[in-house]
Amino acid sequence: SSSFHTLYLKFYTLLNEEYKKNLTDVAISYLKNRGFSESEIEKYEFGFSPIDSDLPFKIARELNINSLRKLGFLHGKDPFSGRLIIPIKDEYGRVIAFGGRVLGEGQPKYINSYETDFFKKSSTLFLLDVAKDKIKSADFAIICEGYFDAIAFHRAGLTNSVATLGTAFTKYHARKIRKLTQNVVLSFDTDSAGIKAALLSLKILLSQNFNVMVVMYEGEKDPDEILKLKGSSELVDVVKSAIPAEVFVPKALSKKYDLKNSNAINMYLGELKQWDEVFKLVPKRQENFRNTIKEILGYDFDFSKSLSYKIREAT
Ligand code: ATP
Ligand code: MN
Ligand code: MN
Ligand code: MN
Repeated sequence: SSSFHTLYLKFYTLLNEEYKKNLTDVAISYLKNRGFSESEIEKYEFGFSPIDSDLPFKIARELNINSLRKLGFLHGKDPFSGRLIIPIKDEYGRVIAFGGRVLGEGQPKYINSYETDFFKKSSTLFLLDVAKDKIKSADFAIICEGYFDAIAFHRAGLTNSVATLGTAFTKYHARKIRKLTQNVVLSFDTDSAGIKAALLSLKILLSQNFNVMVVMYEGEKDPDEILKLKGSSELVDVVKSAIPAEVFVPKALSKKYDLKNSNAINMYLGELKQWDEVFKLVPKRQENFRNTIKEILGYDFDFSKSLSYKIREAT
């Protein structure tokens, strides 16, 4: 009910304040090590959950809330205990969940609050509350996969950036961005999980008629690492060098296959055939797409000759 929503928001506001108050020197030096100034630490509202914390339960009691599950917590120990706290806000800037990172090494590296009626990972975009105005005025959104990646873009002045919570982009995310712009720059991690998530996200975005460019670079793992190792202007340059989706797809997929092997080429073309269907909706894109494949292979090709295409057609 709406009164529970009010109570829920109150709970998260109070818990966020408690976590912020508990930011220890160790957590502060962790953040400073990642390049944050004191004022940035305040700005992003980082917190810390003390060892053996019972803060969520204490605050729930104070507010007379019995159902911890509805708050995104289970009975027992605070799952964020000992972790750096990153508040996750809705598009209006209200805290609705937390991300918690281990300080240093450890598994799992991150945990999130459990999903609730008011927190769904598939429709939440980290930093959307701050980014929405700039997304509208710049008329594009930068979408990345990690908390610290979105923050890295903001720190480099690209405040039109948001992050999914480590998953691919969904149609629910798309709905929120669509209200602000139809142009998207994807900047997922360069590892195979990131490329996979980027390709999945692309399918959703293209099917919803977004114009999409994709950031590709060698060396660093993610935008946060680029900022740390090379600085703001390099991160901005990397965004400027984004390539159209129809060029990204054949390039990214080529990394999966040994293109000296004819069977691998068949598999590669088989996979690309599905993308040809997506890009053909805009003839210029399809032409660009096919030219890129030709360039990668070094010769002209025929989708209908690829083995996996034949198998798909016959079954
Ligand atoms: P960092 O820079 O702090 O090391 P990252 O953001 O680069 O972390 P990735 O492993 O690239 O971490 O994961 C991207 C995002 O996926 C994270 O920011 C987080 O939102 C989410 N994520 C990663 N691991 C988990 C996990 N075990 N459980 C839930 N979410 C996770
Ligand atoms: Mn990753
Ligand atoms: Mn990463
Ligand atoms: Mn990272």
